[in-house]
Amino acid sequence: MSTKVCYYEVLGVSRDASEAELKKAYRRLAMKYHPDRNTDNPEAESKFKEAKEAYEVLSDSKKRAAYDQYGHAGVDPSMGGRPGAGAGAGFEDIFGDVFGDIFGGGGGRRQGARRGSDLQYNLELTLEEAVFGTEVKIEVPTLVACKTCHGSGAREGTSATTCTTCGGVGQVRMQQGFFAVQQTCPQCRGKGKIISDPCPDCRGAGRRNERKTLSVKVPAGVDTGDRIRLAGEGEAGEAGAPAGDLYVQMRVKPHAIFTRDDNDLFCEMPISMVTAALGGEIEVPTLDGKLRLKIPAETQTGKLFRMRGKGVKPVRGGPTGDLLCRVMVETPVHLSSKQKELLREFDRSIQKGGDKHSPQNASWTDRVKKFFDDLTA
Ligand SMILES: [Zn+2]
Ligand SMILES: [Zn+2]
Repeated sequence: MSTKVCYYEVLGVSRDASEAELKKAYRRLAMKYHPDRNTDNPEAESKFKEAKEAYEVLSDSKKRAAYDQYGHAGVDPSMGGRPGAGAGAGFEDIFGDVFGDIFGGGGGRRQGARRGSDLQYNLELTLEEAVFGTEVKIEVPTLVACKTCHGSGAREGTSATTCTTCGGVGQVRMQQGFFAVQQTCPQCRGKGKIISDPCPDCRGAGRRNERKTLSVKVPAGVDTGDRIRLAGEGEAGEAGAPAGDLYVQMRVKPHAIFTRDDNDLFCEMPISMVTAALGGEIEVPTLDGKLRLKIPAETQTGKLFRMRGKGVKPVRGGPTGDLLCRVMVETPVHLSSKQKELLREFDRSIQKGGDKHSPQNASWTDRVKKFFDDLTA
């Protein structure tokens, strides 16, 4: 007991501090050292306990008098000086005040009418719509404010009155042994207001189910996973409280030609054997028209061509992506006997040139030969 710091010192107040000064000092310390804000911090935890104990004693006039007269011995439970039930209520009481507001209540504490819920709408876009932007009309099932009563829930000409049980707060305090607990007001069921003469159209709810049509501007460059927030377009709030927001979640549908990787577009293009060998020009599709692409002579299948800046202009700014085009050499099919004869003739002339016409084949043959040599060595 001798190690105990004076309660007044713990709270940092003078010995003649008023109720209000004590409360203020305790609030400040409780906020500073609260375990929610100081996880795994034993020092803060002990400071928090100390402040709590000091406030419990000093906020109770009987305990404070005993403490002033006898020091810790006057109020220490082991010394038999601790007053009984009810006296400790001050702590939980102030706890509710302090942390209900700062840490979001936790226990469902809320004041008055609730804000409307946020809504999500999944919007499917074509690649073109996502790349160039679009404006779409969407229909959302939602709760809208009742037009008859303008969301108040009260019959025209009347208005809701503040709940007398909770004073409009929507919460009441119930004493349970040592603790004062917050409960939703049973009279107004948390709304804080009483409607004695409800609006006939919404039966006092202030909101009605409706399908709302909205126009959504989709900016150019969006991609799957992007979302647009339409503030205040969610469900209407209770009894005139603010509406929630509507989130439009975007998903880009697969495209017949292009696949998208971030800001780059990718496509595969077939080219003929002859174009691949002799070079030429091919037409490449882009999302906004066609482009001519020069194919150099001796192009192998699978070669990737990059067209800078022909991809997607990102919605959040930055450089425009590229269009990547992979050429695939196509084997000719459905050949006539004349065409087949020409190819055989062509093949014979190629054979005469040896490996020089087929560098990949040459290196392949070498590798296969080395493989067998190594095997038999
Ligand atoms: Zn109430
Ligand atoms: Zn109404």
